[in-house]
Order: sequence, then C-alpha cells, then structure tokens
Amino acid sequence: MEYQAPKSKCLLCNSEFTSRGIGKHIATCLKKRSEITTNKLAQKYYYICVKDPYNKDYFLFLLISETTTLDDLDGFLRDIWLECCGHMSSFSSRRWGDEISMNTKIKNIANIGNTLNYQYDFGSTTELVIKFIGDYRGLIDDRQNIKILSRNSQVIVPCDKCGNFPAVQICTECQCDGNGWLCKKCVQNHKCDDEMLLPVVNSPRTGVCGYGG
Ligand SMILES: [Zn+2]
Ligand SMILES: [Zn+2]
Ligand SMILES: [Zn+2]
Ligand SMILES: [Zn+2]
Repeated sequence: MEYQAPKSKCLLCNSEFTSRGIGKHIATCLKKRSEITTNKLAQKYYYICVKDPYNKDYFLFLLISETTTLDDLDGFLRDIWLECCGHMSSFSSRRWGDEISMNTKIKNIANIGNTLNYQYDFGSTTELVIKFIGDYRGLIDDRQNIKILSRNSQVIVPCDKCGNFPAVQICTECQCDGNGWLCKKCVQNHKCDDEMLLPVVNSPRTGVCGYGG
C-alpha cells in the first residue's frame, strides 16, 4: 500500500505541515502572535508537546495556562486520547523525583526544555512524554485553560491481511501475532468473535484494553 504521510494542521493559522515540521512552525506562529498585552485578563501559558514515545505519529501541541493543575491535564488527556475504563494514571519526572501530586500547578513544575512522564493504566499502560517548549502571554478563546494548537491527523496503518487498504478494525486476539489490523473487506471474513474487535481510532491507545475512541 502506498500512501502519503498525512499532514497536520496548525489551528492558529490553518496551514498544514508534516509531523516533522509542525512543532517548529507552531513556535514561530505563536511568537508572531504574542504581543505585549495590557489586558488584565491575559494569562501566562506554556507551549507544550505531548507525544507517544514509541510512535511519534501521535502528538498534541497545546497551550496550557500556568494555573492549570496536573489533574486538569490528566482529565484532558483522558478525554481526547485515553479513557477506556477509569484506570489509574500518574505524572512523574526525573527532575522532581517520583510521582508528582495531581494537585500540582503547571507553574510549579514548568521549566522550558524539561519533560514529564505520564502513564495511564498501570496494567496495559499507555505512556506519554510531555515537553515544555516555550511560554506565551496573552488571551485565548473562551479563556480555556488548555487549548489545542495541533493534533496529529489520523495515522494510516495498512491492513495486516491484504496490505492494500487502511485498517479500520483491530482484532485484539490476533494483534499480538501481527495479524490484527484489518481493512473493511478483510474484517468481514475474519473468523474471531466480533467482541474481539476494536475500531481504529486516532489515539496512541487504539487497540488497547477496551479503548473505542
Ligand atoms: Zn500556524
Ligand atoms: Zn481499560
Ligand atoms: Zn485487508
Ligand atoms: Zn482475530
């Protein structure tokens, strides 16, 4: 199967970039927009990147206000990428020692260039790495505490069976043997029980536990 790596959009200016170029672009795009504001409602935000360390195709670029807690960020990550059955999660960092309390505010741990590690579900764990890239002072829409600047577009994985079409379902029984990602056609002839199937969704947790998007 031949396909082009899908491009991802910068939500500040709507331009599209490859996953290699998007991070750099957003930094410049933000810089252009950051002006010295006298508005009293202006807040300090950090520009962060959340990535799956094992599959760089999955990423989120976010602006997060300095008063946001790790608990809020945890909730955000669960909503967009992770929540299947209410598993436990944690943030940790080499610099700050082991687990960091969920009540911690971003401003107390933000250091440009630093990274945090995040784990969702201590059984079938999804690991994420969070990097502080820069800071930004200003106002964002609706005064949200977390704003998405870019999210990777759907990752295309070819069908394990025919190799001709993108996979749309994952057989959780067969995926450990490398035969579980199936296209629309091949899923119809697949012998395993329907209950074993999970949809392919745009998340590093696709095909894990009961994650259905
Ligand atoms: Zn842009
Ligand atoms: Zn689960
Ligand atoms: Zn197929
Ligand atoms: Zn199967």
